[in-house]
Amino acid sequence: MKFDAVIIGGGLAGLSCGIRLTNAGLSCAIVSAGQNALHFSSGSLDLLTQLPDGRGVEHPLDALAELAIQSPQHPYSRIGKEKVSELALLAEQQLQAAGVELFGSAQQNHYRITPLGHKRLTWLSPTRVPVVKFEQPLPTGKIAVIGIEGFLDFQPQMVADVLKEQGAEVVSHYVHLPLLDRLRENASEFRAINIARWLDRSENMAEIVSELSPLVQQVDKIFLPACLGLESDQVISDLESQLGKTIYLLPTLPPSLLGIRLHDHLLKQYRRQGGIIMPGDKVTKVNFDGQKISQLHTRNHGDIPLKASQFVLATGSFFNNGLVATFDRVYEPLMELDLGNIPPRSQWTDEQFFASQPYMRFGVETDTQLRAKKYGDVIDNLYVAGAVLGGFDPLTEGCGAGVSLISGLYAAEQIISAINNANAATEHTEVAQ
Ligand SMILES: Cc1cc2nc3c(=O)[nH]c(=O)nc-3n(C[C@H](O)[C@H](O)[C@H](O)COP(=O)(O)OP(=O)(O)OC[C@H]3O[C@@H](n4cnc5c(N)ncnc54)[C@H](O)[C@@H]3O)c2cc1C
Repeated sequence: MKFDAVIIGGGLAGLSCGIRLTNAGLSCAIVSAGQNALHFSSGSLDLLTQLPDGRGVEHPLDALAELAIQSPQHPYSRIGKEKVSELALLAEQQLQAAGVELFGSAQQNHYRITPLGHKRLTWLSPTRVPVVKFEQPLPTGKIAVIGIEGFLDFQPQMVADVLKEQGAEVVSHYVHLPLLDRLRENASEFRAINIARWLDRSENMAEIVSELSPLVQQVDKIFLPACLGLESDQVISDLESQLGKTIYLLPTLPPSLLGIRLHDHLLKQYRRQGGIIMPGDKVTKVNFDGQKISQLHTRNHGDIPLKASQFVLATGSFFNNGLVATFDRVYEPLMELDLGNIPPRSQWTDEQFFASQPYMRFGVETDTQLRAKKYGDVIDNLYVAGAVLGGFDPLTEGCGAGVSLISGLYAAEQIISAINNANAATEHTEVAQ
């Protein structure tokens, strides 16, 4: 099988890269071993919320110059602030074109309300998530935080208490919903996605309305755990119009409905543009021809290689085995690529639990075009994108999704120009002959 590009890993980085490549008319295959970080995420996307020195960031794009001084190894610093600004805008457009409805812009961070009721800075949030503009009080209006009886991942009283401390007018309740009784019998099955599969059925709407209605008479807004609207937002809009109240969703513990919804939109967009995806398959072997990759082998395709002129490594970090740590060694398992500076074992962690943990910055070393290196030499046709990159801490710097989207798009742009240049060179040779 032959493609213009093959991407290893179908998370946020691999998908954003694949969407850009197929949008440019290139043939592209994504091999993706399993679930990705989006299935476990809040559904909100961070661009940059804190500098390494601990200062909070209101305007992410304006902070890139300072980031380059404090953290020259950060992927944004390598890509350059003008390019990052351009690609952040492109990422917003790409998400919108994929049908993902998001609030926010790269010009200014906003706060999203977390599942514990706290405020957390971010770049883009699903429009169903309650948000607060930077340095603004919580919007006025009485809120009902409603939990679902038996659903232990969401504690409405706790959320209400934290919101009250911030000046909001809040009540909290549990709704019983008899239609969930059978599911409730098995606590391990009583999770957000399984609940959504029941609540999303149109025949259950009348019962949801009749159970919720008495609890929300006196309020303006309803905060629910994100347990409905898996396939489409329509069920939530219908519920809103029947109750006459605005409904917001708070992310739950994984699996995350809001993250899965985002993933599904991107995957559909990639497929709509002709992209090939090989879900549940895993790249097991990579063949080199000098400083270039010639082909890949996957678990499911056995002897049939995947050939391409360009490749992207988007395998994620430790969470998805894009990086592996043993007791005293960290390595990239597929090609044993060079990693950035890995300190001695005793310095991998900081004993202060909430400090930036050094191991979060471990990742694959690249040149400024984000091409991987092996034994110090650049691999000409292997670009690296997303969480497998080194030099940043997605947690304390609040930049996880931004790095994935922007490096995925950056890799795509390098590939598009490499292929265009190769085509132009071929045409030139043909004309000369
Ligand atoms: C649990 C969790 C929650 C997070 N929540 C947020 C959040 O709410 N907001 C935010 O901004 N950031 C969040 N992040 C940061 C996150 O890293 C990025 O947002 C981003 O989603 C990472 O995307 P990625 O594509 O780089 O990697 P991943 O999402 O990790 O995807 C990598 C993919 O590659 C596949 N893969 C690995 N090896 C192979 C192989 N050999 N062959 C084929 N496929 C392979 C994996 O199976 C996986 O599907 C979170 C991270 C984690 C771990």
